[in-house]
Amino acid sequence: MLSGRVAAACHSLKWTLPHWKDALYKTYSPSKPGQRLLGAVVQRGAHRWTTAPSSRINQKPVFKRAPAFGDKLAIIDSSGGHSYKQLYRSSLGLAGRISTALNADFGGLEGKRVSFLCANDASYTVAQWAAWMSGGTAVPLYRKHPESELEYIISDSQSSLLVAGHPYAETLEPLAQRLGLPCLTLPSTSNLDTSDGADGQEKETGDITDWADRAAMIIYTSGTTGRPKGVLHTHRGLHAMVWEMLLSSKAPLVNVFMAVPTIYSKLIQYYDQHFTQPHVKDFVKAVCKERIRLMVSGSAALPLPTLQRWEEITGHTLLERYGMTEIGMALSNPLKGSRIPGAVGFPLPSVEVRIVMNNSSNTTIVEGNHRETQVRPGLEGKEGELLVRGPSVFKEYWNKPQETTESFTDDGWFKTGDTAIYKDGVYWIMGRSSVDIIKSGGYKISALEVERHLLAHPDIIDVAVIGAPDATWGQKVTAVVQLKNGQTMTLPELKTWAREHMAPYTIPTGLVLVEEVPRNQMGKVNKKDLLRHFFP
Ligand code: AMP
Repeated sequence: MLSGRVAAACHSLKWTLPHWKDALYKTYSPSKPGQRLLGAVVQRGAHRWTTAPSSRINQKPVFKRAPAFGDKLAIIDSSGGHSYKQLYRSSLGLAGRISTALNADFGGLEGKRVSFLCANDASYTVAQWAAWMSGGTAVPLYRKHPESELEYIISDSQSSLLVAGHPYAETLEPLAQRLGLPCLTLPSTSNLDTSDGADGQEKETGDITDWADRAAMIIYTSGTTGRPKGVLHTHRGLHAMVWEMLLSSKAPLVNVFMAVPTIYSKLIQYYDQHFTQPHVKDFVKAVCKERIRLMVSGSAALPLPTLQRWEEITGHTLLERYGMTEIGMALSNPLKGSRIPGAVGFPLPSVEVRIVMNNSSNTTIVEGNHRETQVRPGLEGKEGELLVRGPSVFKEYWNKPQETTESFTDDGWFKTGDTAIYKDGVYWIMGRSSVDIIKSGGYKISALEVERHLLAHPDIIDVAVIGAPDATWGQKVTAVVQLKNGQTMTLPELKTWAREHMAPYTIPTGLVLVEEVPRNQMGKVNKKDLLRHFFP
């Protein structure tokens, strides 16, 4: 349990920034109702999950185990605490409504997609569990996406039904009408307890036995070409990624805190501005050490100064790991043992990796797994594309057989598109093989997708989008723009226009006006040259 002092520190740190929450997983466990959300905390000592052998989990969705925890606290959000029973009952109620709306038997929606848009609170869990209970596939929507993006995801995933958590009915209902889809709404989470799930309702999905290979979730990512692709994960894949590790009897009893480097960087900025007195600094450090067992960074390269400063402030050496929407977590520095700054450690258990040269014979430079790594003699430290294989790798891009085929080698390795090296006994990510993927604040952004939107601006005739290096954000989305003759444009003007059309995190934060976007004879922009030119 947290002491009041710690809770006060959490308040004063203002760790409730929307962006902060966005980066977090959906299981929170601050200790007292009404207390603010601290982070991506997976608290395990308080209940019996710690004793559940992974074999018993059998790759069933997590809601199957919820009734066993009854009145125990599962989630605390802005409206207070919610027990496992309340989440379960509310999910059952919603699953019943979903089945009725689609004229299906309870649990009989196999193959159908349910898209849902929820706040970062218990309603997200309810909607996801309900989608699974009703037998369907969950398609989470993102609240910062503009309407056009939401519509694209709903249509591309061929969702049969929409669920709007509070207060997103206003956003989803007009879309549902336009697309001719039923739209169910959820009350605010302060009313979850009174929702219509009945105690003892035993009809829930008892007939479903083949959970492992069922489609569980479609998560949308950016593509290097074309529109975002839906990444389909089965329940087996989700377990391999998170739950087997979380529910293993070997898991420790305290918490994990995860964030992207930008979050740590922002927290450091806040710390430097607000915590100037020595006794406050001592206090923050003591609290972080006492309160948090492990702090993890991932989703983008962790700059060395951030790692070092965080260590000074909190006493925690951030554990850097590498992962992707398509593969979950794949490589990690060790929990115990030395964490090498700038490296991503070695493959997690059950993950196999290769580094392959981009030459005519795709020479394998390195091949390794959790236990050992073999390097082709003379090629240690040589760059190549990182390939990954293992149970947590996704099944397919939704409805995109060609892209799926192209992203795997013939013998089943997923091509990450990241350049890596193996040196000094660990793996290092050197960057994306494609300049068209920008990582800003942990978000993966397709430069081509941003260009596609910007080209719809009436005054823009040509544009190249690049990721300018930035200490806080990793990269900043920067548009190199050629305007129609006689037109002018400022960055604030571009941003105002873009807010109507683009997800906020994709909107350019840099604008460079040029007379002509330089293209080669093939009509291609050499973005590496552009970067070198404008950001030497
Ligand atoms: P996403 O699918 O949004 O999680 O983005 C995955 C991409 O993030 C990877 O393909 C990498 O380019 C990048 N990434 C993730 N973790 C790291 C890391 N520790 N260091 C550098 N890049 C990373």
